[in-house]
Amino acid sequence: MGTERPPHPAELMLIRIVSVLLILCFGAVFGAFADVSQVRVVGDGAPTRITIWTDAPEDAEAYVSDAGGVRRIIFPLRSNGYSAEGPGGGGITVWSLNPGRLEFELDRAMSVARVLRLPPTGSEKSYRIIVDLDTVSDARFSSVAKRDQRRLAKAETDAVRAAEKEATLLAAAPPPGAGRKAPPRSTRGHVVVIDAGHGGKDPGAMAITGGKEKDVTLRAALALRDLLEADGRYVVRLTRDTDVYVEHEDRVTKARNWNAELFISLHADAAGSSSVSGASVYTISARGEGRIDREASRNNWVIPIEDGTPQRLTGILSDLVKRETKTRSAEFAELLLPELERAGPVLRNTHRSAGFYVLLAPDVPAVLLELGFLTNAADAKRLQSDKGIEASTRAIKQAIDIYFDRQDLRLASQ
Ligand SMILES: [Zn+2]
Repeated sequence: MGTERPPHPAELMLIRIVSVLLILCFGAVFGAFADVSQVRVVGDGAPTRITIWTDAPEDAEAYVSDAGGVRRIIFPLRSNGYSAEGPGGGGITVWSLNPGRLEFELDRAMSVARVLRLPPTGSEKSYRIIVDLDTVSDARFSSVAKRDQRRLAKAETDAVRAAEKEATLLAAAPPPGAGRKAPPRSTRGHVVVIDAGHGGKDPGAMAITGGKEKDVTLRAALALRDLLEADGRYVVRLTRDTDVYVEHEDRVTKARNWNAELFISLHADAAGSSSVSGASVYTISARGEGRIDREASRNNWVIPIEDGTPQRLTGILSDLVKRETKTRSAEFAELLLPELERAGPVLRNTHRSAGFYVLLAPDVPAVLLELGFLTNAADAKRLQSDKGIEASTRAIKQAIDIYFDRQDLRLASQ
């Protein structure tokens, strides 16, 4: 091993994504993405001055609106998707920033007297938009609002179209790994993390034949490790290799710290009816996805984004990594199912989604595999026998081989 740190799989995704984005940036498609860092309102209505600090040149126009009986000055801005609000003054009651829009609520009729756009200067690192508002008559306000209604609708439709176009371009982007130079990957192999479910004080499900899920999962994990290590193509890590309890977040943190390229959590199911049998595979559910950001920030699972990436892109990049991770998880799950079918029974509707905690890493493709039902006699016997475990782990190994074959092919075809 040289001193060079192998890249985190998410970095590989990012290298591709950044290159696509840079092209888009220079093509000015992304030019309007701005982070508004500060908004200030001063003045007494004659005039009232709004100053907006952004990190990108922003040509957003101001529109006057009286929609819903509320007078507003609206700037369609393509902010990075966060929200903020603050106090006004001089005829402005409050301002608010939401994805796509910065708006100022007015307590009187005002209109835009002038707009100044200032580039960064020596001491001032941000772009500034300075907008002076003057008090006008109600009649004047109404007529401007009527004119702006259509213009604003058009501006916002155009912005949505531009966003859709970007999404299409990104969807048509080259496959994962394309765009990076000579493979900087460690020559040691693909990092596969196997997570034996439960352990220690947490026994998991009880087998109808006697025995505990935590022992079944550990035995399968160790067998799978041996099988993968015999191949020489993989670096295998276990979240536990003895009968100990490991917190869910620690399992994910370990996998991320090991630069896992694939995370497989092994479990065995239990059902109310002893007739239910078969393996099933889970990937993250839409509801679970909602927890990713929260858990990622709570546990400091930071998606590694290259230094020097413009700040206004990091949010977009993170979203793309999460999407890519989800796609790869689903891809592996779909490869796993036919292999499992050869090894034993599988449940109907076998690729399922759930919010299991161990599936929450934003940047590690992950599946949770229920090897079978310990409440079913045949499954329990199968999962507690050498032959049954061998069949299951061979099936998993086969799917892992195909999964990484495909990835290597993609890298090789750049
Ligand atoms: Zn379990």
